[in-house]
Amino acid sequence: MPWTIEEVLSLLRNEYDVQSWWPSSSAFEVALGAILTQQTRWENVLLCLDSLRDHGLLDVERLAETDIHILEELVRPCGFYRQKAHRLQSLARHVLDTHGGEISHMLQGELDECREELLSLPGIGPETADSILLYGGGRPVFVASSYCLRVLNRTGACSSQDYEAMRKKMEEELGPDSLALGDLYALLVELAKEHCRKLPICRGCPLETRCSFKAGRT
Ligand code: SF4
Repeated sequence: MPWTIEEVLSLLRNEYDVQSWWPSSSAFEVALGAILTQQTRWENVLLCLDSLRDHGLLDVERLAETDIHILEELVRPCGFYRQKAHRLQSLARHVLDTHGGEISHMLQGELDECREELLSLPGIGPETADSILLYGGGRPVFVASSYCLRVLNRTGACSSQDYEAMRKKMEEELGPDSLALGDLYALLVELAKEHCRKLPICRGCPLETRCSFKAGRT
């Protein structure tokens, strides 16, 4: 019988420490990190956030008004730097124009409306929007990244390759518990990186005793 989601969460909490998994000083910084992390490593994101901080650009108004060419140079280590600079500045301008510069105001409205608003901005897809809502706004959403889809489908805890279906399923399973939803996402990413890679390393995986994929290989 496959693990339940509650069991997966409990087992992985014993295995990995994700308490400071998405460190940041503000919701705006989380949002910038969520855009910068697209298609790059987290180390590069930290480098760029440090540069933005050094230039005083973790501030909504200053980022909205800064020269785009300066911004491009600062985010160059994250790749796709022109696109990403444009996305960061679009977000900042939207927060400034529509929410008086307060991203917390933007993230605390009716959840579906907040999500739609984020999705309407350049370069913000479901995974980025949900990361911002969850880690920046503390809202109870699940980030159904490809890592999560892989682990949950292989174990048999869930069977869907569709982002929205998986997101809703996890939100139903864990209820309005943003801490549990955030931990589950972070823990599944950790497991996917250490064990459940494209070519899985099942030996030593905390879920191996009741994993459908593992059972099918033995
Ligand atoms: S046992 Fe193997 S396939 Fe199953 S979750 Fe662990 S690493 Fe992935």
